[in-house]
Parts: sequence; C-alpha cells; structure tokens
Amino acid sequence: MNNPIPRTVGFKPGERNIFFHILTSCNLSCSHCYINPEQHGKGSVSKETMDAWLALFFDKAKENNLIFLGGEPTLHKDLVHGIHTAKKLGYNSITVDTNGYLFHDTLNRIEPNDAVLSFSLDGPSPEINDPLRGEGVFETCTGNLKRAVNKGFDVSLIYTVSRRNIDHLQEMPKLLADMGVKRFFIQVIGLRGKSAQSGQDLQLTPEEWLATVPEVAAAAAGLGMHVICPKVFLEENEKFECAGNVAENFFIFPNGRVYQCPLCEDLAVNTFRIEDNRLMKNQGLIEEQLFSLTIPEGCVMNKLLQPDNLLYDAAGKPLHRISCCLLKQEIRP
Ligand code: SF4
Ligand code: SF4
Repeated sequence: MNNPIPRTVGFKPGERNIFFHILTSCNLSCSHCYINPEQHGKGSVSKETMDAWLALFFDKAKENNLIFLGGEPTLHKDLVHGIHTAKKLGYNSITVDTNGYLFHDTLNRIEPNDAVLSFSLDGPSPEINDPLRGEGVFETCTGNLKRAVNKGFDVSLIYTVSRRNIDHLQEMPKLLADMGVKRFFIQVIGLRGKSAQSGQDLQLTPEEWLATVPEVAAAAAGLGMHVICPKVFLEENEKFECAGNVAENFFIFPNGRVYQCPLCEDLAVNTFRIEDNRLMKNQGLIEEQLFSLTIPEGCVMNKLLQPDNLLYDAAGKPLHRISCCLLKQEIRP
C-alpha cells in the first residue's frame, strides 16, 4: 500500500459554502457545545423563511455547498422540506450535520442522493463519548449511523479533538471502517460557546496535535477513508490566507446574523444580517475589518481569542503561524 500524502485544500474561487443553522435548540448538552444562545437566540426559522433564505444564498454562477446545522437540525420539522427545496434550487452538495438522533423519521423521508449525513461522535466507546456528549449517545449515534450506511447513505463522521479525548483518537479509524464511514473529519476544539465560557482545559498544544493527528489521519486513509482535518499550523513555505478575503463562506443563524468567520460567532461583529429576506451589510465594528490585518502569527482572531496558545522564540518571532480555521488538509486513500 502507498503511504497516503496529506494535501492542503486551498480556498476555491467560484465556490460558496453556506452553513445554515436552522435552529439553535438541541436535545443534547455537549460539554463543548459551540452554540451561544445569547448571541444567536433560541429560535428557529419558519418553513417560509427557510425557503426564502435558501433562495437568497444560492448563486447560480457558483458551486453552492449547503450544510444544515443546529442545534440539532433534525429537530426542525421542516428540515426534509428544506433539503428538497435546496435540491430543486440546484445546490451542488447538501449535508446534514447531526448528533445522530435523526428525529422526525429523517432517515426514512430522504433518499441517499438527497444529502450526505455527517454524524458527530467524540469517542470510540460509550465510556469516552458519553461523558462529553451525554448518556446513551454513543449507542444511539452509532446505531443510526449503521442504519444510514445500510440504506446506502454517504456517511461522514466528525470527531472534535480536545484534551479529554485525544488519547482515544487512534481507536477511531478501525471503528469507522467497520461501520462503513466514508469520510472522517478530525476537528480541533474551538474556543466558542461553552468551551470558551466554562474554563475547561480543553485546548491542545501544537505538540499534542502534531504528535497524534497526522498519524491517525494516515491510518484512517490507509483503511480507505477520505480524511479531512484543519491545517492549524502553516509550514515555513506556506502562504497565509484569510478566508474572509479569498473565499465565500456564510454562517447563517436563525436570528438573521450572518458571519463570514466562525471564530467571530461569539461576538456581535457579523458582517451581514438578513432583514426582510434581504442580505444587508452591517456598519461599525464588523469582522470584515479584522480580515485585512496582517500579523506574523497568521490568523488575527486566533490571536485575539487564544493568545496563550501562541509561542515565540527569544527574538519574539512566533514559533508557529496559525492558519485560517477554515483551511483544511485532506488525505485520500
Ligand atoms: S449536538 Fe451539537 S448543538 Fe447539540 S449540544 Fe452537542 S455540540 Fe451542541
Ligand atoms: S479564522 Fe482567522 S483567517 Fe480564517 S476567516 Fe477567521 S479571521 Fe480570517
């Protein structure tokens, strides 16, 4: 077998990614949940609003990728309607990010070619996963994941790596291969929502990340999975680019806030808002103003939110440049 090679996936011109939070409520209460009701409310979009906003963000000149998010998106009674609307509009890819509960009989009301199902699991067993995500979650999530695979769905899995589960990441590739998962997203814990507020020591050092993640990613690719993980640290020869300047990403919340950068979501600095189903640009201090700042550490928001994670040499030069959190690397089998 050839050694799989990681490849940085650059931002693609002509691509538009729409991250649509159709509600913020959830049946779970994960210890690192990134949803922030103070900023994004507790509401959900109506069926009519869902249709209007799906049309608003679809650009027929672009490749449009849609991700339905929550809270838990399958709790929304009109999710299936939204998937069908997006398909009719011509979205190139549709993904549902679910905690695995698949409410409202979602699995029996959509077809495998309607959407990719992306499940979240943070451990290879109930002992590791359930203290983070909730009692009984491992069993329900893996049960529904296997049902989805058996029905022919294209299934991905997201594992959010933190201090509390990094030691078990290496057990994931075999488990996922055995369940028929095609795509494995290894996500880094972000300092948003509960993980930012709770004072939990969840963040990884560069050494911890680099000592574990590349090896596990290669092992998963070796078992036939397409592996995607954030780039996090740029090599000397790699150029820093802020997605806010060179890519089109919209993170939409039910209260009408629209961000370009997920790291800004805990603050009222969203570049856009939706009013009367029209996209309006905000005035004053907005995230867009941060995107043009150039600093030797790379991402400005990372430096603002987690300065303690940056290390410097004796001359004050950063030891690592931090990439845009939206820059990914992939390993294909
Ligand atoms: S499943 Fe997602 S939205 Fe729900 S509590 Fe967990 S992290 Fe938050
Ligand atoms: S994560 Fe950093 S680099 Fe990426 S869009 Fe946000 S501010 Fe820009």
